[in-house]
Amino acid sequence: MVARTQTHLSGELKVAAGVPAASGLLGYYPRFAGMAPALHAKLAELTGPRWVDLLFHLPTRVLDRSASLSIAQAPLGEVATMIVSVVRRPPLPPRHIKRPLAIELTDGSGSLRAIFFNPGSWLERAFPVGQVVIISGKVESDNKGKKIIHPDVWAAGNDGEKKLGNVARIWPLYPLTAGLGQGWLSRAIATGLEYARENPLPEWLPKALLDERGWPLFREALVQVHQPQTEAEVAPGHPARQRLALDELFATQLALAHARATTRSLRGLAHGSHHALRDKLLARLPFKLTAGQQVALAEIGADLEAPRPMLRLLQGDVGSGKTLVALLALLKVIENGHQGVLMAPTEILARQLFANAQKYLQPLGLTVALLVGSMSKAQKTKLKQHVREGFVNLLVGTHALTEDDVVFDKLGLAVIDEQHRFGVRQRVALSTNQPLPPDVLLMTATPIPRTLALTVFGDMDISSLRDKPPGRVPISTVALPAERVVEVAQRLQSIVQGGQQAYWVCPLVEEDEETTLTAAIARKDWLCSQLPKAKIGLLHGKMKAADKAQVMADFVAGSVDILVSTTVIEVGVDVPNASVMVIEHAERFGLAQLHQLRGRVGRGQAASHCLLVYASPLTEYAKQRISALRESEDGFLLAEKDLELRGPGEVLGTRQAGEVRTRLVDLHHHQHLIPVARELAEKALTRALNAAQRNALAVLLRVFGKDTAAEWLRG
Ligand code: ADP
Ligand code: MG
Repeated sequence: MVARTQTHLSGELKVAAGVPAASGLLGYYPRFAGMAPALHAKLAELTGPRWVDLLFHLPTRVLDRSASLSIAQAPLGEVATMIVSVVRRPPLPPRHIKRPLAIELTDGSGSLRAIFFNPGSWLERAFPVGQVVIISGKVESDNKGKKIIHPDVWAAGNDGEKKLGNVARIWPLYPLTAGLGQGWLSRAIATGLEYARENPLPEWLPKALLDERGWPLFREALVQVHQPQTEAEVAPGHPARQRLALDELFATQLALAHARATTRSLRGLAHGSHHALRDKLLARLPFKLTAGQQVALAEIGADLEAPRPMLRLLQGDVGSGKTLVALLALLKVIENGHQGVLMAPTEILARQLFANAQKYLQPLGLTVALLVGSMSKAQKTKLKQHVREGFVNLLVGTHALTEDDVVFDKLGLAVIDEQHRFGVRQRVALSTNQPLPPDVLLMTATPIPRTLALTVFGDMDISSLRDKPPGRVPISTVALPAERVVEVAQRLQSIVQGGQQAYWVCPLVEEDEETTLTAAIARKDWLCSQLPKAKIGLLHGKMKAADKAQVMADFVAGSVDILVSTTVIEVGVDVPNASVMVIEHAERFGLAQLHQLRGRVGRGQAASHCLLVYASPLTEYAKQRISALRESEDGFLLAEKDLELRGPGEVLGTRQAGEVRTRLVDLHHHQHLIPVARELAEKALTRALNAAQRNALAVLLRVFGKDTAAEWLRG
């Protein structure tokens, strides 16, 4: 193995002269000799600028370069490695002229051209005329004969044969970027490995753990991941990869611990303990809080009274009673002299929350107001003044609430419903007139699996509503192939005649809103023709907010029987009289999304149904999703199942997953390491560490870019 590293890189990449010395693996790697500045910039962008970043750029595949062939034998379309001599190398075109350069090569059996589209001066060194070189790449042909575009190349010198024998047959293949080939990457990484050998980092994982798991030391792991011999060795389960994944998770957990500690040390509002208003509201409710609601309320109450800013996530299925818990928490804050804000991701939802809040709070003599984008400027200005002067106890709204000129008199608690869960912390920038930050409660109806919660929300407190208010009628879920869509329409006929309402959801078509819209309109027209007596409405993302609100209002009022919609209704809308949910192309939705959609029904007394209409044939995954959905209505359980079936990126949604971007961790395959990392972090922070251990952990944090946490650990 080691022999290969030495050979295939053949010392070509000496560190370029005149570059300041880097500080170990955490320092920047210099521009490698022979590498143009533009290429260096590309490399740095691809891998990150530090030596350690370069070495964390892991191969994703291996390539078997098979034995050397003669040019004549080399089959077209396959990668071959050959010893050839350079016959002719045309002069480089002037810098500003973009013209490919074809270098002529031969080995006696035939001739071959090496084509470079962005020729640079390094070619003069790599292909000295009359010398022997080793090249490797995919052989193609055109009317001028065989060619290889952008081959990898090594100097063979006089002992070409011998060297070729040393050029490894099995090659790691790296993810690339335009204009940067495998050759450059392999050479840069080999130089990096050499550098790492000379500048080792301290080991931060306990020896006992490495022994127990059969994992290599960090420095050995770095070498191993770059020298795979089989496909299995680039898989996430390889010991070296697992070890590095654990490193990253460990760093994340340490950083989260730091964030927790920071939050704990911040000063926040300590709300008083009065709860007369809350008791009044509770006494007026026709039901009792569920056990889960009581626990959550107690947890939130304790946070509110503590002199620290609260950052808590309240998760629970649709209809589990989160909104009520939030309102009760807001009441406490209001009663103790502060204002509250309740923010929803869409205007429809904000209006609905507003209606709910008004229903509960107005009878208590409190002022609830709504701020949404579609309001007139004059209305907004007046409202903002009332908010600033403290006349508004609770302000409900959309993202418009975070505009600069929304200033509160005394903001005590911000509740954020169904926000894109990850970016939210940065975005809760609400202006107050006070020195202390408001408490924050996030709510989500898409519980995330425990293991993920630890990596993503490790610095947040979490309350979960696992039980549901009593008396809910279970929703029957059935799946039907699209060929039976007429039956579905007939079923709706009887539903509508019985005075019930229905949703009909059309999925996003090919990620394209126009096409999606066309599909939804076509479906609406079709339904109108099938059910001439039914009143059918259409709701889609491209409608104006006011039109959306109108359609929604008609549906709530019952003057629309069937609401055909794109997925804009996914979150939150509450129409108890709607008892049927039809989801078209159910196979295109994820489990969590299907569950969310289904949660729109089953809110009233009537028996509810969810009809999953799918296009055959179903993939194995789609089958499993649909059957999981038919078997369970528990969002927590379905979330675990979803993770099992799809992997974290998809469970979190691409947008959200972007915020948990990992380098070495494949959350799907490495999630079993999360608890291990968490335990390591806990141990590290509760034990007295000596200076060397402390330093090693600080280095670990810096390796993964958690510099602030590293400083904290050092200090
Ligand atoms: P979520 O916000 O979790 O979707 P909501 O708070 O909107 O749930 O509650 C859904 C419905 O259940 C509302 O109509 C609400 O009034 C009602 N509800 C809430 N808590 C209870 C309870 N403990 N018992 C009975 N009904 C409840
Ligand atoms: Mg809700």
